This record gives sequence, C-alpha cells and structure tokens, in this order.
Amino acid sequence: MQPCMKKITIIGTGYVGLVTGTCFAELGNDVTCVDVDEQKVSMMNQGRVPLYEPGLEEVFQRNQRAGRLRATLDLPAALKGSSIIFLALPTPMGDDGSANLSYIFAVADTLGPLLEEYTVIIDKSTVPVGTAEQVRARIAANTTVDFDVVSNPEFLREGLALQDFMHPDRVVIGSSSDKARAVMAELYEPITRNDHPLYFMSERSAEMTKYAANSFLAAKITFMNQIANLCERIDANVDDVRLGVGSDSRIGHKFLYPGIGYGGSCFPKDVQALIHTAQDHGYDLQLLKTVIDNNQAQKKVLTSKVLNYFNNDLEGKTLALWGLAFKPETDDIREAPAIEMIRSLTAAGATVRAYDPEAMENIKKLLGDNDRLHLVADEYAAADGADALLIVTEWSQFASVSLDRIKELLTQPVIFDGRNMFPIETMRAAGFYYESIGRPLVTSSL
Ligand code: NAD
Repeated sequence: MQPCMKKITIIGTGYVGLVTGTCFAELGNDVTCVDVDEQKVSMMNQGRVPLYEPGLEEVFQRNQRAGRLRATLDLPAALKGSSIIFLALPTPMGDDGSANLSYIFAVADTLGPLLEEYTVIIDKSTVPVGTAEQVRARIAANTTVDFDVVSNPEFLREGLALQDFMHPDRVVIGSSSDKARAVMAELYEPITRNDHPLYFMSERSAEMTKYAANSFLAAKITFMNQIANLCERIDANVDDVRLGVGSDSRIGHKFLYPGIGYGGSCFPKDVQALIHTAQDHGYDLQLLKTVIDNNQAQKKVLTSKVLNYFNNDLEGKTLALWGLAFKPETDDIREAPAIEMIRSLTAAGATVRAYDPEAMENIKKLLGDNDRLHLVADEYAAADGADALLIVTEWSQFASVSLDRIKELLTQPVIFDGRNMFPIETMRAAGFYYESIGRPLVTSSL
C-alpha cells in the first residue's frame, strides 16, 4: 500500500501531541496542532516548542517552514477537510485515583457537529478500558456523519520521544472497524515498514495494553529498589547483582537500575488508575498497591540518609541538589522525587541550592525561588559552600564534573547519590564520604 499525504488534526499539543504531530508532518502529512493554551500556540507559531525534548524544535521548525505543520486555538477551522483526529489530551489522576477523563469528554462533546465526512478519531491519551466506547457515544449523540473511534496508546519516553515515535517497539491499534484499521495501517506504514510491528486488537485490549505495560515497568523498578535496599543491609553490591540478574534473557538488563523511586506524568497515575479499574470490577490488584506504597517509601530514602548523617538536625545546613526533573533529558517535573525532597529538607531547616539543566523554570513556578530554595546557574554553583551534595536526577553532564573541584567547593566532601552515578572505587579514590543506593558505603574521607 502506498501511503499518501493526510490532513491530520492533533488536539492537545503537550509531550505526546506535539511529538505525534511533528513526526507525522516529518512523514509528509499536513498537520494542524490545536491547543487551548494561548501561550503555547503563540510560541509554536514563532517556531519555538513549548517544552524541552531533544531534537524536537529542529524537526518542528523544518516542517513548519515546509508548510506542513502549524498550531492554532481554533478547533473548527483546524478540522476543515481533516478526517484524522488525534486526541492527545491530559488524563491526570482524579481525587479517588481514577483517571480524570473530563478533558477527553469535553472535546468529544464538541466534535460531533464539526465532522464533515467519514472521520477516524484516535485516542492517544492513556485512558481506562471502555473509554473508546464512551467517546464514541458522546460524538454519536451530536452527528449523523460516519466515524470510528480508535485506541492507539502511545509508548514514547520523554527525552527519547522522536526516536521512540519513529522507531517504536510496536504500534498498538485498537479498533473493531475494518475501515478504521485500513486508515491506521496506511498512516503508520512509513513507520511499520521498517520492521516495527503493528498489532491490531480490540479497543479494550489496546487500552489495557498501555496500563499493563506501564504497571509492569513500575513494578520492575520497584522490585529492584527493594533488592537494592536489602543489598545495603546484607553487604552486597546491587551493581553486581543487577548484572548477574539482568544477564538472564528472561529478565533483561533494562529497568533494573535502582534509585529513589519512579515519578513522572505516567507511572504514578497509570498504576493508580489500573488499581481503580480493577476495583470497579471487583478485583484487588494487590501487587500494584504494594508497588505504590514501596515507591512512596523509596522517594524518602535519600532524605532519610541525609537526616541520619546529620543526626536529624538540618538547621543551618546548606545542601546542594543536582537534578529536579523526574528523569534526565526532560523539563518535566510531574511527580518528580526532587519536589518532596526539597519540601522535607527545607522543612527540617536546610537551605537547598538546586540546579537542573532544563527543569528550573518549572520548579520555580511550583515552589518559587524562596529563602530556603535557591536555584543556581550550574552544578558547581550549587556545590559552592554546601555541607553535602545530593544527586537526584542522573543528567549525563553530572557524570563528567571535576570531582576535585566539587570537593574544594563543598564544606566537607559528602555526597548522597540517589542515582548511582559514580563508581564506588572512583569516589573512594577521590576521598569522598559517599552514600548511594544498594551499594557499599564509602567513608574514605573520614
Ligand atoms: P501534557 O499535559 O503535556 O499535554 C496536554 C495538552 O493538552 C496541553 O498542552 C493542554 O494545554 C492541552 N489541552 C487541554 N485541554 C485541551 C482542549 N480542550 N483542547 C486542546 N488542547 C487541550 O500531556 P502529555 O504528557 O502529552 O500526555 C497526554 C496523554 O498521553 C496523557 O493521557 C498521558 O498519560 C499520555 N502519555 C504521556 C506520555 C509522556 O511521556 N508524557 C507517554 C505516553 C502517553
């Protein structure tokens, strides 16, 4: 099948929508991105992307210049002549742990009267099982035009989003309509032709696939965090254990790195939402409840180590903190472990000097640059005069710092590393007191 240019509308241009729109434009389609955020739309129309994602701005600009990509606030105008609509809207956690579908439903309620010809409406947001049916009913209530609703969950990782979108492990398409399946197969053909499989399934199975994948990954991280915590108590080194375990091809090496808990906009809310779905169907997903509890505890591990070291007295102490984003290569701070850490450490009397290459603006909006939290220019400025250094996000630039200089800048050579960024031997040779996760304590400077 030879794909031809499609006129696509993306509704919601955050991390997922903007990457989806930019990549489909890059594949030769005509794409209009719709958002309700005036500032974001205005930035995009000036050729700037309103979030940090490596490589995205360049591809966005190239397609904008080629006339294949634009942004607007005007949904009815965007939909003129467009028969493929992606919903990439937020589905945040509701108060009861369920996914909040109000953004999806609000848009679904407006779509009916705007449809002109057979249209495929594709849900890219992560939504609970049964949502495609609800979206279909809401649209059908306001139109007699033929349409299908498809579930096409997104698996991209922030920081690697372009690569993941263009070279996915798989594309999942949930649809019971042959007509819609044909449209989706043609749309994704430039991607799937390079040996990236496309799996057709029901809408419900597709919706479930996304939650099952994220919950499994959250559980895998949590499992390894618990193993690491135990390693500390039994004088084993999780670096060695990880290699030994990951070499088993049934397990694999990915997602076996212990740390200070998962965060981000997906895992926390998706695990909660799946538990909620299970509850609605009279099933108790005990395993995932334990995952959530353990992850909450893990987010406190580094703070506990710091408090322990300073005999629970942080009054008058200055702490350097490297990394605010929930993971490297993104400016996303949603559910980032750094947030709770900053709150606890400052509440205990410490002043925090924090640095992140991309997430400082977002933290400033959330926490402010106040008396107890100073956002500084770089990793050295954070360490300058601090009583200890805490590594919270593993930005690769932190791995190549001058340890000699850091040692000079700190009032005492003490590092708490929540991401195991440095080899134990290096830190011993450099003369640091160094606590990491699941590895032997280094006390060489004492
Ligand atoms: P986001 O918050 O970054 O972006 C959502 C965008 O939708 C925002 O720009 C917002 O202004 C816009 N919006 C809200 N209401 C709107 C409306 N009525 N009309 C038009 N635009 C509107 O969210 P995201 O991270 O891109 O996530 C979107 C969905 O994709 C979620 O369900 C999420 O779980 C899922 N997902 C996210 C990722 C990820 O890594 N971020 C990965 C896979 C799946």
